[in-house]
Amino acid sequence: MQDKIIRELRLSNLDVELTDHFTISQGSVKKVNNLLVSLTLADGTNGYGEITPFQELAGEDRETCILKFNEIRDSLIGTSVLNIRKHSHFLEEALPDSPAVRCGLEMSMIDALTRQLEIPLWAYWGGRSDQTLITDVTIPILPFERSIQLAEHWLAKGFDTLKVKVGSDSDNELKILRGIFQLNNQVKFIIDANQGFDEYSALSFIREVLHFGCKVILFEQPVNRYDLDSMAKITKVLNIPVAADESVFSLQDLRKVIKAGAGRVVNLKIMKTGIFQALQIASTALAFGLDLMIGGMVETRLAMGCSVSIAMGYCPIKYIDLDTPLLMRSDPLLGGYSYCGSEIRSWENPGLGMVPLF
Ligand SMILES: [Mg+2]
Repeated sequence: MQDKIIRELRLSNLDVELTDHFTISQGSVKKVNNLLVSLTLADGTNGYGEITPFQELAGEDRETCILKFNEIRDSLIGTSVLNIRKHSHFLEEALPDSPAVRCGLEMSMIDALTRQLEIPLWAYWGGRSDQTLITDVTIPILPFERSIQLAEHWLAKGFDTLKVKVGSDSDNELKILRGIFQLNNQVKFIIDANQGFDEYSALSFIREVLHFGCKVILFEQPVNRYDLDSMAKITKVLNIPVAADESVFSLQDLRKVIKAGAGRVVNLKIMKTGIFQALQIASTALAFGLDLMIGGMVETRLAMGCSVSIAMGYCPIKYIDLDTPLLMRSDPLLGGYSYCGSEIRSWENPGLGMVPLF
């Protein structure tokens, strides 16, 4: 068992250019400034994890993540990756406000362990499905012409579901949705307001979209994350499901959402909660009859591969939103899962199956 002892933990920058600024109603990411966690076990096996801060949504930035990582690193050196859940509880207590740091550390441990065990990560979760996944693709908040150009690009690649970010300038956003609908009236839309509306504006916006014939399959986080009353009212009056995303940053948050009836779907993101808490949220939500969505912050294929493994290995997830690597100019990783149009294909190599290209 000595070979499962953590010998080294390092941090490096994971910088990637985006094709367009990733702007949502709460903020904008101009460049991917993530962090790569590299873990080495006593026998030399490596594992990798990604930390993706998104300050406007989760309150973490790169500097605080580096600080928190350095604070905690020495407590993990010399411990065994056979106790990942124990480490996960320790991290939840030690770094309650740094979910992305916890996520990156957990990921590097799970990746190293499954590499040593020589099983792919989706098999570690149970290998529930050997099918491919079909993902949507996101159109961030952009000028009209660019939004239409991007929609054309993705539709030509075979995507049938577009996730459109709204909640900033309703007139422009309605014009964009109408423009995309005119390109192809079969497109399925996920509308994500990232808390940008109040109850009244959310309902009038979505009713207008439905009025001109758009097929909306999900309405994500219409109002402020703490406004569960409005989330519940919108959930009650609309025929389309409402998803709680920013309203669920923890298992406790999920309990409140369930109690309030504030959504029929929960958006899982490992960067909001860490990996193991995301699994608890998934199981609890399913037990209460909610459907699941899985998404991410602006992550490279490394962290996204971990979410892919959960969707392929752990439990049924109805809405797959694992697209942000497609919005980047380059891919800093080799191996692992792959995209073929909207299809996400599995991998055979151990762990996440990826190595950084730098
Ligand atoms: Mg969202």
